[in-house]
Amino acid sequence: MATLCLVVRTAAELVAEARAKFVQEFGEEPQLAACAPGRVNLIGEHTDYNEGYVLPMALPMLTVVVGKPNSGHDAHIITLNKDADKPWRVDLNLQTELVSGQPRWANYVKGVIHHYRASPVPGFNAVITSSVPLGGGLSSSASLEVAFYSFLQQIKPDDGVKVSKAVACQQAEHSHAGVPCGIMDQFVAVLGEKGHALLIDCRSLEAKPVPLLDKNLVILITNSNVKHSLTGSEYPTRRRQCEQAAAILGKNSLREATMKELEDAKGRLDEVAYKRAWHVIEEIQRTEQAAEALKRAEYKEVGKLMVESHNSLRDLYEVSCPELDELVSAALEVDGVFGMTLLQADAVDRTIRHIQEQYSGNATFYVTTPSEGARVLSLSS
Ligand code: ADP
Ligand code: MG
Repeated sequence: MATLCLVVRTAAELVAEARAKFVQEFGEEPQLAACAPGRVNLIGEHTDYNEGYVLPMALPMLTVVVGKPNSGHDAHIITLNKDADKPWRVDLNLQTELVSGQPRWANYVKGVIHHYRASPVPGFNAVITSSVPLGGGLSSSASLEVAFYSFLQQIKPDDGVKVSKAVACQQAEHSHAGVPCGIMDQFVAVLGEKGHALLIDCRSLEAKPVPLLDKNLVILITNSNVKHSLTGSEYPTRRRQCEQAAAILGKNSLREATMKELEDAKGRLDEVAYKRAWHVIEEIQRTEQAAEALKRAEYKEVGKLMVESHNSLRDLYEVSCPELDELVSAALEVDGVFGMTLLQADAVDRTIRHIQEQYSGNATFYVTTPSEGARVLSLSS
């Protein structure tokens, strides 16, 4: 199995790498280190910005930030992730230079500094490194935002309210990276719990941990290695369509709508808005059901709901792609696969081999476990 799956670097390895770069660049030892995880969502897609439920878990993949305050008003920040756009070092005057610009990766950091809840922050030097693949759908962006926020908390503490921290990081992505994302990614990056998925109610911003450690169960992440994320105008378009459908139904959000109400309003909605709302309303229900089934360890039921979710994303929300459809079909052919990410423990090897045979692209795999959210790290090795 080990040879088929990618090995995830540990927090200590990432700290060591960032620390060495810090010493090389700034000529002294860093004093502070913090990290935040990437995430995978088991079910509940495009429900967060409709005030529905999502069911993500934090991953062992992490973004780590190490650094030290300096005596000025400037921040000097380096990323070691070569997938980010160049230059990989930015020098910011914290009093004047927190507007979006180039390189794009720095916008996430600028946004976090801008929305930091105990700003202004004094000057600092920092190095970032991450084992979350950039742009691979595991939310490297929220992981970066939350890791960076956690780093700033050590330089100048805020009030420590975790939900507000997640919201500030979401605002950073909206205002500075220009991505009108929901709250899920930042929320689980802050509040993820080891051994649990989180059922997040995106209306009340409450989260319930759902146990997800079972020796008979494996969470397998398959990266299609094609970049088809909802970029450009597509994501805001979906959001707008949902808002329009909610408005026509006379609701604040699709969370408050039922399928019966949607059917009754069918004549007043265009076909596309109808399909989008259909997905969202049913997906919110599926997510709650999946959390219940998970608690009862009814993995076949969870898997069935995951398959329905994928089909709905493909046919109603129209956000799948041929590669993903291919991967899901291949995985579901294997005995012991409940849903794309949930497998019986003894099914991992044969699932990976089958996908490799069937998939036209070059997939990579991670066997993973539900991990904890953002935290302070030790620099002493
Ligand atoms: P995802 O969040 O699914 O990985 P996004 O497109 O939302 O994909 O975010 C990826 C972007 O976030 C990268 O292109 C880069 O600009 C930024 N980013 C994430 N992690 C890092 C990092 N460690 N260093 C620099 N930039 C990063
Ligand atoms: Mg992202």
